[in-house]
Amino acid sequence: MGETAAEIGANTFAFFTRNPRGRGFRKPEAADLEKLRNFLAQNHFAPLVAHAPYTLNLCSDRQEVRAYAEQTMREDLELLEAIPGNYYNIHPGCHMRKGAETGIREITEGLNRILPGTSGTVLLLETMAGKGSEVGARFEELWQILDGMQMPERVGICLDTCHVFDAGYDIVNDLEAVLDEFDRTIGLGMLRAIHLNDSKNPCGSHKDRHEKIGEGEIGLDALTAIFAHPRLQGLPFILETPNELPGYEREIALLKKTAEKRYGNDKD
Ligand code: FE
Ligand code: FE
Ligand code: ZN
Repeated sequence: MGETAAEIGANTFAFFTRNPRGRGFRKPEAADLEKLRNFLAQNHFAPLVAHAPYTLNLCSDRQEVRAYAEQTMREDLELLEAIPGNYYNIHPGCHMRKGAETGIREITEGLNRILPGTSGTVLLLETMAGKGSEVGARFEELWQILDGMQMPERVGICLDTCHVFDAGYDIVNDLEAVLDEFDRTIGLGMLRAIHLNDSKNPCGSHKDRHEKIGEGEIGLDALTAIFAHPRLQGLPFILETPNELPGYEREIALLKKTAEKRYGNDKD
């Protein structure tokens, strides 16, 4: 995975720790993890962002689903200890008609059980689009979870541009105001990674349908402004756009070229 990322001009990548929609899981060999660790160090990669399966839900209305989410997250964090310094990205959860307050409490309790058993890897809560009963579409909800953490140094935020836009934060017309609001509510210091995606739908639509960079409602200008933003430099930027490898290669080149042209910013 590392070699492929380097070939297309990337210095980070995301990967699923296991089948994103199911339960299939093959534990990676220790030797492969060591190879990856060496490759990342030699090539000065930014932190990787491992993504938990979408199906995990720490605040499900079914006890066995909550228990499975905890167990899986624990196993994934143990696995990631072999490649220290990288991130584990989760969707906070869906409260299933129990209400956001209950969801937030169950997520907080779940994370406080999971984190002490493992060491090191920082877990990132992703900003959500607010589809269905998703928790974490408002910065305040994410803050409430962070505020309840017994190990605050082990958690951070991954901001997904498609999700925040769909949640109603207007990063097209008011990027500075959204970043200010994030800073006021959560603190920009908690922001550890960006998922850079365009959206098929308008601001506030709560749909969560990713689009290729520049082909959606957010557009190339706004996404470049985020990519080149001085307050976001040094964060890993991950593309989750509907593409195959050549598409990602084009999008990386397009973002770098557009940023360079607009801001004279030689970002890599
Ligand atoms: Fe995600
Ligand atoms: Fe995302
Ligand atoms: Zn999404």
